[in-house]
Amino acid sequence: MDDHAPSLGTPLGPAAGETHAIPLAVLAELTHRCPLQCPYCSNPVALDPSSRELTTKEWLRVIDELAEIGVLQIHFSGGEPAARKDLEQLVARANQVGLYTNLITSAVMLTRPRLQALADAGLNHVQISFQGAEPGIADRVGGYKGGHARKLEVAAWVRELDLPLTVNAVMHRQNLDQLPAMIDMAVKLGAGRIEVANVQYYGWALKNRRALMPTPEQVDDCLRVVEEARERLHGVLEIDHVLPDYYADRPKACMGGWARQFFNISPQGKVLPCHAAETITTLNFESVRGNRSIAEIWHGSEAMNAFRGTGWMQEPCRSCAHKDEDFGGCRCQAFALTGDAHATDPACAFSPLHAELFTVAATEAAEEADRFTYRNFSGGTVEKDGA
Ligand code: SF4
Ligand code: SF4
Repeated sequence: MDDHAPSLGTPLGPAAGETHAIPLAVLAELTHRCPLQCPYCSNPVALDPSSRELTTKEWLRVIDELAEIGVLQIHFSGGEPAARKDLEQLVARANQVGLYTNLITSAVMLTRPRLQALADAGLNHVQISFQGAEPGIADRVGGYKGGHARKLEVAAWVRELDLPLTVNAVMHRQNLDQLPAMIDMAVKLGAGRIEVANVQYYGWALKNRRALMPTPEQVDDCLRVVEEARERLHGVLEIDHVLPDYYADRPKACMGGWARQFFNISPQGKVLPCHAAETITTLNFESVRGNRSIAEIWHGSEAMNAFRGTGWMQEPCRSCAHKDEDFGGCRCQAFALTGDAHATDPACAFSPLHAELFTVAATEAAEEADRFTYRNFSGGTVEKDGA
């Protein structure tokens, strides 16, 4: 499912003794292995090798610990979580200890019997990513022939098993023209929700920015399509929409603020405030394989406390009226674009880099470079001509 340099200085965390409620939901990234090769994948460019993945026994212990400390939902993700042979066992344990379970999948590795086994193990919800509305573009974006047809088949099985379905539609310059058709596809599949997520540019997507960046006109059209569909499909399909940062005036409160509402666990057991946090290479994230409990890591680790609250901020954020609403935007994007994770997210109009960012976006979108660098364990492979 995503990279860089200077020293961060002394992190200013919460006041001594302050703690943060354990989040309700946790993303469990079981593996970085995936048959697809999406050029915007949010996994780090340096993927965790399978030899470093947590074992079944370790994940079972983690699941028990999550339930004990009050987590209510677990989202099994990756890479492709179905690449783990123990997925059914992990879903069953999560179900036994009372966690709501969601599977975030590319779907192409799922068979009908396996999906049945997951449903029998207590799976509560399935989220399938789609790369387009028809096989030509979808299979090309995912770098996997036959993938789109397979996804449609698996989505139908999900509904036959009466499991709620969410369609995850990651949008960019090369597939935004298909958005209306993707919304129609979600309705036909019986999905209750579609996430229209414009690509966020760090990691693999930053490598592929020239090939993915939408034009300003496409972004405006996307908004119109979403608004019209929300009205027309009220009560039929819930539509979540994430705007591309480069064209926004204000940044998003990324993850609801650093280590405030969410954490994820990477394939090798690192506890992270968001799936992209390892792109901030100046931070050291603690692992569930160490001596500390997950609760101790959440409350006390230096990396978790590095950008909590507002005490770490530089100007213009430090004296800004919006600092408690957006927490200065995305730390990963600030680091990727400025080399300083303390900087104001350049997606903000108050950042000195904002105008430049918009110009870069509009210029790259107009260049029409369209070849992808596909995500893989060897640092990426450039798409062949005529692929
Ligand atoms: S974004 Fe694509 S390559 Fe990355 S994990 Fe999801 S399906 Fe696999
Ligand atoms: S200056 Fe900082 S706090 Fe103010 S709107 Fe921009 S990112 Fe948010």
